Amino acid sequence: MSFDTLGLTPDLLTRVAEQGYTAPTPIQTEAIPHVLRGRDLMGLAQTGTGKTAAFGLPLVQLLNAAGRRPAPKSAKALILAPTRELARQISDTLNGFLAQTRLNTAMVVGGTSINAQVKRMSRGTDILVATPGRLLDLLDRRAIDLGQTQFLVLDEADQMLDMGFIHALRRIAGLLPRKRQTLLFSATMPKQMAEIAAAYLTDPVRVEVAPPGRAADKIAQSVHFVPQGEKSALLKELLSGHPNQLALVFSRTKHGAERLMKSLVAAGFAADSIHGNKNQNQRDRALAAFRQGRTRVLVATDVAARGIDIPEVRHVYNYDLPNVAENYVHRIGRTARAGAHGAAIAFCTKDEMGALRDIEKVMGRGIEVAGGTPWAVEPPRKQQAQKRGNGGGGRRRSRSRSGGQRKAA
Ligand code: AMP
Repeated sequence: MSFDTLGLTPDLLTRVAEQGYTAPTPIQTEAIPHVLRGRDLMGLAQTGTGKTAAFGLPLVQLLNAAGRRPAPKSAKALILAPTRELARQISDTLNGFLAQTRLNTAMVVGGTSINAQVKRMSRGTDILVATPGRLLDLLDRRAIDLGQTQFLVLDEADQMLDMGFIHALRRIAGLLPRKRQTLLFSATMPKQMAEIAAAYLTDPVRVEVAPPGRAADKIAQSVHFVPQGEKSALLKELLSGHPNQLALVFSRTKHGAERLMKSLVAAGFAADSIHGNKNQNQRDRALAAFRQGRTRVLVATDVAARGIDIPEVRHVYNYDLPNVAENYVHRIGRTARAGAHGAAIAFCTKDEMGALRDIEKVMGRGIEVAGGTPWAVEPPRKQQAQKRGNGGGGRRRSRSRSGGQRKAA
């Protein structure tokens, strides 16, 4: 398959070649011709499949052909993304396609000065990349007018739902003209997504590149059964096994991420962390250093890591298993991006056995055991009774062990 057959202009084909893309990814092959023909689209695809270019290339071509300059405060196309990091990546990708056009982009995200964004939007923009919260702030200030927005892209829509943006999406979509082209991308298809699709899309083409919930086969997945107190040492041991490769480590909590990062630094690893307690500057700096390989290990929480697109990430560690099984799919999607290979390593304590089973259910397969033996877990009711009843020495011991180690982690 080649980019030449998708209907893109010679100029855009040159941009594509400049990005180093030689062949289109499956989502690009399937989506680009439909989007160029003006169809609405529902794309089931994870980050890492090349979906940004799948909507970005045809969008740039359609906007460029339309020609008119944007009116003050207006945006001809609106792209909504759940996090600042993803918004920035989308914006960077699009800017790579804009040479030789008169199109411009603007970004409206939290964590940076709203006044600068008000000023920027006073000129209007061709493409606006935004996170829902900040966009609403600017709409409330009447700094943005979506009355002429002909294109709407909802990227990582499932994550926007998880983050509670459903009302924001409803409000925002209501401000756009009914006659528009809408593209919706999601890695998973929760029930609520069907409602969203029905509400916002008109006769959409459905494009699916990997069944939802099934990670790319290029990711070697494994699990270590390990007590909480031994996770930190195991991580250090495994990280030492690939000293020159980038690793992303997922922690459940912001504090846990910070503690783990400090423990890694103390052990001599070039590590940093990214989570909701860090301001935008710190997050940008941490990502830039990781991207350049100055830090090798980035400890992250789910929200902060959404959309992280660093092709060199070879190892994703699930230091803590996610509470929501779908997040496992998102997390491991940070490796093996666009054709590369990667490894996803999960750590599982006895308390996390339920989470592991949920993940295996969503993935539709078991995960290979790389260390330890699966914990024997009693049926939930019996376990409750045991906890309440004898309070078990074993239980207390395991708590004090993990408590003691927690300081070290
Ligand atoms: P995305 O799924 O849009 O986040 O893209 C994931 C990564 O794949 C990014 O680093 C893109 O630059 C890269 N990419 C997108 N399309 C292609 C392509 N056709 N060939 C090679 N790399 C690509």
